[in-house]
Amino acid sequence: RAKATGKNKYNFYDENMSKILDRKLIIERILREAIDARYLYLQYQPIIDLKTGSIVAAEALLRVKAENIGFVSPDEFIPIAEETGLIIPIGEWVFERSIEELEKMRKLGYEEMEISINVSSIQLKQPDFLGRIKEIINRHQVPTHRIKLEITESVLIENLDENINVFKKIKDMGMKIALDDFGTGYSSLNYLRIIPFDILKIDKSFIDEIVQSQPLAEIVDSIISMAHSLNIQVVTEGVETKEQLAIIEEKGCDMVQGYIFSKPLLPIDLREFIQHFNKK
Ligand code: C2E
Ligand code: MG
Ligand code: MG
Ligand code: MG
Repeated sequence: RAKATGKNKYNFYDENMSKILDRKLIIERILREAIDARYLYLQYQPIIDLKTGSIVAAEALLRVKAENIGFVSPDEFIPIAEETGLIIPIGEWVFERSIEELEKMRKLGYEEMEISINVSSIQLKQPDFLGRIKEIINRHQVPTHRIKLEITESVLIENLDENINVFKKIKDMGMKIALDDFGTGYSSLNYLRIIPFDILKIDKSFIDEIVQSQPLAEIVDSIISMAHSLNIQVVTEGVETKEQLAIIEEKGCDMVQGYIFSKPLLPIDLREFIQHFNKK
């Protein structure tokens, strides 16, 4: 009897596994065709400066829309794009579209706006990564100091020495570097000393419970103080409520990105949002 149960479990597991694999293969095929078939688009989430109360930046967030699959989140498709190497052409597409959007906003008069672009470790490892983005920037009228590259902690662990070089060159070009999802990975405070980050983004998981948890509030307070003493600005991600906002504002956080102000928006909605928001 025990054996039979075991076998059933095994079959069930097998079936589940093959469903997961099917979905992965479907997503992989979609990603492979995505650029040509126009399955990709970007949404932009406003980032608000708490001192001035205005929108100072927007983060480009990739979306996939294809008929043969329902909603698929970046947390699901980005890892598949990374495993298959498809993140390289896709990441380049994201970069170019984001730069075009920045250029468009500048032409509309939003010249202070910055754009934040997520960069995967796979892209960073490409020997011609900087050459490719230089080439894209040169084709558009955008100043490099309005471009921020967001990098997650996992990037840092692999090839730290080579990456330090790339980061230096990114800074030499005039771009800014943000450390994304701070606190979730294998973060070592040592990285903050070695890599010239301009911005540190505190992960949503810290904010989720900040109202109920005094220790979390203390941790966030320490992160902000430490960042400031290193001349690094702090963005908190995933702020959804007034109570959360009040705490991080009291702690001296510089910028906020969260549903409390806005979800990620299509370009046209972003521009409209900025226009109304910054008037207030
Ligand atoms: P991320 O870079 O940390 O982006 C922030 C994520 O938090 C976004 O999820 C955003 O929609 C979500 N978020 C922001 N505020 C709130 C809030 O108040 N409540 C809730 N529930 N969520 C909030 P999204 O768009 O699903 O992206 C997930 C992750 O996928 C990103 O996390 C980033 O790591 C990755 N990603 C997205 N676009 C790209 C891309 O173009 N290239 C690369 N390499 N990764 C990307
Ligand atoms: Mg990000
Ligand atoms: Mg993040
Ligand atoms: Mg994240």
